[in-house]
Amino acid sequence: MLFPVRCWTCGKIIGHLWDEFNERLRMAKISNDNLENGLESLFQRMGLKRFCCHTMFLSHYETYEEAIKMGFPEDYSNIT
Ligand SMILES: [Zn+2]
Repeated sequence: MLFPVRCWTCGKIIGHLWDEFNERLRMAKISNDNLENGLESLFQRMGLKRFCCHTMFLSHYETYEEAIKMGFPEDYSNIT
């Protein structure tokens, strides 16, 4: 599943922050930053204050690449 454009709970637009979130996490891993203040400081720097929005980032798992690898049925006519 693709990352949602809006938070499902509060409706804040967050889709444009997904790449930034992953990039910041990647940089933290490279620099061996153990995020001493936890992810809270990361979310604050990105302007995300609500827990519902935090949950959207922490619980998201991209499955579309796995779905593409599985392929698609050749014939959808049997699906009703
Ligand atoms: Zn939210």
